[in-house]
Amino acid sequence: MTGAEVKQRIVKDSKGEKQNGIKEEKKQKYWEPLTDGVKWIEKYGENLENFFERLPEFISTFIATLAIFTFGATLRGEWVVILVTALKQLTGQTQNTTNATAILELFSSRNLKMENFSMFFIGAHAVSLSTYFLIGGFLHWYFYMNRRHRAKEWKIQPDKWLSPELERHEVMVGTISLLIVGSFSAFLACYIYNGNPSTVYFQFDEYGWLWFFLQFPVIFLYADYTTYILHRLYHTPWLYKHFHKLHHKYKQPTAFSVTAIHPFEILHVQLTSCLPLFTIPVHWLSFYSVAIYVYYHGIIDHSGINFKAQWWQPWQPDAEFHDQHHEFFHCNFGFNMSLWDKLHGTMRKQNRAYTEDTYHGEAPSIDSPEGKAILAENPDLIESKVLQEEIPEVIQNIKTSKTEVETNKTK
Ligand SMILES: [Zn+2]
Ligand SMILES: [Zn+2]
Repeated sequence: MTGAEVKQRIVKDSKGEKQNGIKEEKKQKYWEPLTDGVKWIEKYGENLENFFERLPEFISTFIATLAIFTFGATLRGEWVVILVTALKQLTGQTQNTTNATAILELFSSRNLKMENFSMFFIGAHAVSLSTYFLIGGFLHWYFYMNRRHRAKEWKIQPDKWLSPELERHEVMVGTISLLIVGSFSAFLACYIYNGNPSTVYFQFDEYGWLWFFLQFPVIFLYADYTTYILHRLYHTPWLYKHFHKLHHKYKQPTAFSVTAIHPFEILHVQLTSCLPLFTIPVHWLSFYSVAIYVYYHGIIDHSGINFKAQWWQPWQPDAEFHDQHHEFFHCNFGFNMSLWDKLHGTMRKQNRAYTEDTYHGEAPSIDSPEGKAILAENPDLIESKVLQEEIPEVIQNIKTSKTEVETNKTK
C-alpha cells in the first residue's frame, strides 16, 4: 500500500464515511500529526539508517557522540542569544527592545541559573539511551534471535511476530521520543541542581525519617495512578486516533516499544509525573528510584517475554498484563499496579471480543451476535493464544465454519 493510500484510508476511517474525490484531495493538504509525522520519520529514518549502516562502526559512533555533544553545548543557552540578536536585527529594534529583551532576561542567569547544562544533557542521554539499547538489545539478542525457534517457552504471543518494518519503526520512534524526554530530564536536573525554585531536598532527615520512607509509596502511587488516568484518557476516540494509536501499531510489543509513543503524549506523561518535584517535599533519591523502577518495568512489560513479578512486588502484574493491552487495545490500562483497572472495571474480561474499535474497557460478549460477528471477522482474534486457551470450542467452531465456507466456494 502506498503512503497516499494509507492516508486516504485513515481519513476515511476517522470520518467513518466515504468522501468524494475532491473532498479527499482537500483533506490531504492538512498536516496530520500522526500520519504525516510517522511517514516523515519513516522516510528520513530509513535513509539515515542506510547511511549509518554503510559507515564503519567507529565513524558512526563518533558522529553520534559529536552530534550529542554539539547539541548539548549549543543548548546551554547560547541559542537564545542568537535568537534574540537575530530578532533584533530583523525587526530593526536596535534601540529599545521589548519582547526580545524579555526573553533574554528570562533565560539569563539572573532569573534562571543553568550552569553545567551540557554535562546534564550528555549524562541524561547517555544513561537513558544506554539503558534502552543495552537492555532492549540484550533481550532482542538473547530471546528474539537465539531462542526464536523455541518461542513457545518464553514468548507471550508465541505465534505472532512484529514485522521487521515495524521493528525498525519502533526503534526510530522510540529513540526520537527518548531524546525528547531525555532533554527535558536534563533540563529539570540542571534546574534543580542550580538551586532554582522546587520542593526537592537533599538531606535524608530534613523532613524526618518517617517521611523519607513514606514518600517512596506516595510517589509511586501518584505516578502510577496519574499514568493510568492519562493512559485511559488517550484511549478515548479522538486522542487515540490522533496520538496514542501510534504506540498501538505494535500488537506484539518488544522492549523497544516502551518509548515508541507520540512525543506530545510522552511529554504530557512526563510532565505529570514530575509535578511532585514542585508541590511536595521530595528527596531526589526516592523520586529517581521510583522513576528508574518505572522505566525498567516499562521495558520488561513491553518485552513480549513471559516475565513474572517477583515475590517482593505483590502490586506488580506480570508482563502478560500490558502485552494483552497491546493485543486487545482498550483494556488493562494500568502499568505497575493492576489495582486501578480492578477498581475502575477496565481489567480485560474473559469471553469478550475486544478490538481497536471497542472503546472504554468494554466489549460485546462472545455469545452475543455482535461478539460472534467480531470474532469471525478478526483473524487476529482467532489466532490469539489467550482466546484459544480461554474459549477453545468457540474458536474451533469459527475455524470449521470458515473452512466449510471456503471449500463450498472452491466447489
Ligand atoms: Zn494504550
Ligand atoms: Zn504499551
